[in-house]
Amino acid sequence: MNSFLASKPEGRIVLFGAPFDSTSSYRPGSRFGPQAIREASHSLETFSPEQLLDLEECPFTDDHDLELPFGDPCPALDLIEQKAARVISHGGVPFLLGGEHLVSLGAIRAASSMYPNLRVVHLDAHADLRDEYLGMRLSHATVMRRVLDLVGQDRLHQIGIRSCTREEHELSSRLSTTPEKVSLLAGENPCYLTCDIDILDPSVLPGTGTPDPGGLSFRELSNLLVSMITRLRVVGMDIVELSPGLDPSGVSAVVAAKLVRESLLALHRAPACG
Ligand code: MN
Ligand code: MN
Repeated sequence: MNSFLASKPEGRIVLFGAPFDSTSSYRPGSRFGPQAIREASHSLETFSPEQLLDLEECPFTDDHDLELPFGDPCPALDLIEQKAARVISHGGVPFLLGGEHLVSLGAIRAASSMYPNLRVVHLDAHADLRDEYLGMRLSHATVMRRVLDLVGQDRLHQIGIRSCTREEHELSSRLSTTPEKVSLLAGENPCYLTCDIDILDPSVLPGTGTPDPGGLSFRELSNLLVSMITRLRVVGMDIVELSPGLDPSGVSAVVAAKLVRESLLALHRAPACG
């Protein structure tokens, strides 16, 4: 079986990896996420019985991994932003594979400068709304606070949060919503969808840097992604925080690869890529 990420070059959906995990505070290793997803994709079919679509019939491009410097996140974020901006300016939809969650900020900056009325939909176990963490304003734990600075409270929507500080909770409960409400609010507005894979229960996906019990099942997240992608005008998305070395069984990478497959197929059905 071929890797389903053996893509066709004409696709408007452009996958690329951002192998960066320099601010990971608990357990690093998400820099190996994009490559593990590609390898795990060999074990999956290209056809989805859920969506009755085959990736063989849904063109997309895999631009492989960016070469990112370690340490200071600023140059890495700049490179991610430039890449996402190039994709968008050519009429494409960037689909970023993390890496730690901070990498999303680069792509969201690019989408936000291209689409001033951008909404951001954030799926995660964690609120990621700290103003700073361990003295850093750019971190996986502050990434959504930086997005909030960028798009404002009315345009950031959080789903699935189950872990936060008391201070974050106050803010997060104002941003918290349901897929139905987001669809109503967003209408035809462009949306960026960012999915921290630790929204899944650790029993489903132990291979992530900051696992938190009490999360979604695979089916719940897969259905959530497909329903959001097909209802919203998604102009960019990401799946981040797979840390494959933390799951010696290799199942976490397969879980992530299957979510990538379902998301690619849903993007193909979605209004932005129809
Ligand atoms: Mn998280
Ligand atoms: Mn996160």
